[in-house]
This record gives sequence, C-alpha cells and structure tokens, in this order.
Amino acid sequence: MKYYDKNTLIYLDGAFVKASEAALNPFAQSLHYGYAVFDGLRAYNTHNGPRIFKADKHFDRLKKSCEAVNIPYRWSNRELIDKCYELLAINNLREAYIRPLVLTGSNMHLTSSTEANLMIAAWEWGPYLGQNLLRVCISDIKRPNPKSFKTDSKISGQYVNSILATTEAINRGFDEALMLDHEGFVAQASSENIFIEKDFKIYTPPAKNIFPGITRQTVKNICKKLNFEVVEKQLTVEDIYTADSAFLCGTAAEIIGIKQVDDVIYQEEWEHSIGASIQRRYKNLVLENENYEVII
Ligand code: PMP
Repeated sequence: MKYYDKNTLIYLDGAFVKASEAALNPFAQSLHYGYAVFDGLRAYNTHNGPRIFKADKHFDRLKKSCEAVNIPYRWSNRELIDKCYELLAINNLREAYIRPLVLTGSNMHLTSSTEANLMIAAWEWGPYLGQNLLRVCISDIKRPNPKSFKTDSKISGQYVNSILATTEAINRGFDEALMLDHEGFVAQASSENIFIEKDFKIYTPPAKNIFPGITRQTVKNICKKLNFEVVEKQLTVEDIYTADSAFLCGTAAEIIGIKQVDDVIYQEEWEHSIGASIQRRYKNLVLENENYEVII
C-alpha cells in the first residue's frame, strides 16, 4: 500500500507541503511516547461532489481527544474542514480517507505538552476490511481498562493494543479480532464497534468500556428510522456465538457483516439480516442518495 508519492501534499501547520519533504521532529513526545491524537474521516464521491461524511463530529472528537490528554488545541472545525476539502482538491482525490493528527513537541519528560502541531493527510482507500463477510476471533488481547487510559478518545499510543490484537487474529488465520473489556464482556473489534442480531432485535455493548464510534451512533439512528429495536447491553462471548448474525462498523470499515466467530458460523444469510438493511441504508447516506439530515 502506497500512501504517498513525490507529488503528494499534506497540510502541516498552516501550509500545504510535500509529504516527502515534511519536517517532523525527532525529539517529539508523539514519536517517543505515542502522545498524539488523531481522527479518521472519509470523503465520498457523491452526486454533490466529494463530500466528507460527518466532518464536524470528527473534528469535535479530535478536539475532545486533545482535551482529554491535555494537548493544546487552537483550531476551529470550519477552518480544518475547509483545509480538508482543499487537500482533496490539490491531491486530486474524490474518494479518500482523511487523517488529521495532532502532534506534540520536544519534551523527553513525562509531562503534558504545551505545544502542538497539526497535520492532515489524505489517501485513496477502499473499505478497510474489504467487502467480503468477515471471519473474526475472540482475541487474547484485552481492551485497556478505562480507568487506566482515555479509552473513549483517539490517542495514538493506545493503538498498539489494536495492532497486537489484529496481528494475533491474522496469525491465527482470521480477518479481525474481537476484544473483551476488563470485565470479560465483548467490547469491540480493533477499530470497529460490534452489533449482533438476535430474534429480530439488535444488541450492542453500552458506551462505558468501548470506544463509542461515530458510525455506531449512525447505526443507532438508522435503526430508529427503520424501526429496529436496539438494546445496549453488556454482551458475553456466548451471546456472540448464539447470535443470528453480526456486523462491525466504523468510518474506515463502514458496515461489514461477520460470517464466523471462532469456529461458529452464522446460519442466517447475511443478505436477509437486519445488518444488511442497515448496510444498504448507510451506503445511501454517505453517498447522499437520501436526505441524511433526517437521520443525523
Ligand atoms: N473503535 C476504535 C478503537 C476506533 O479507532 C474506531 C475508529 N475511529 C472505531 C471504534 C469506530 O469509530 P468511528 O465509527 O467513529 O470511525
């Protein structure tokens, strides 16, 4: 996967610069301690032109994540959203993943940062986990305890946990990892939230021990619109094994069905599941094929 070439521009501290020439600080706390914050947005090539889905919500979260770990944040959503659209245009991108990243400066002490740099990069990306139904496993790697880390924020260093889980899953021959929280309930996948369908109802873990994604909220809104009941409840591994069907959701992965968890294969045809209806609706929403104000 090539994220940039010699012509790619990124936005860095107020200017568009070549990605290959961007000067990044070797003494930055971000580099040494993972003390940085990021977010992930997606632009779709809609009939209204390239459109970034829920841009405001993502930049609200970027700010909130910085505040959660005391990284100074001095940008407005309007300014950053404008820069994202400019970035897409100058890189000639219509369908893209957009990555804002707030970096911290030189400081080898374990104290909060007083400075911050902001970069935004974009690249062409298909659905993160592909289009096929997934085979997932229950990972031995647990999600961090929310009392030890700001698990509802997108802090860079925390993603080593996700890398360990996906690596383990792939080494075991699966596509993705499902991770348990510190209480032993199923929390989520490495960078997606989980929903299951059982007896025509939809279940998902409550927000307390998970990263409550923007797509998870969109799914809940779609369910409300389609009159599907969503129950928030801590889910056991047994609940996952005995579900009728299940799916993951996230900005990068969008909505993707699960075919198998460990050695349990779901019997319900994905195309007939509630998840598949939600998936179709989600696609229409991001492509602005329907009035998304009604749902958001
Ligand atoms: N969990 C984690 C740990 C994530 O990083 C993401 C991606 N941001 C998600 C869930 C899904 O969140 P969203 O729907 O906001 O992309």
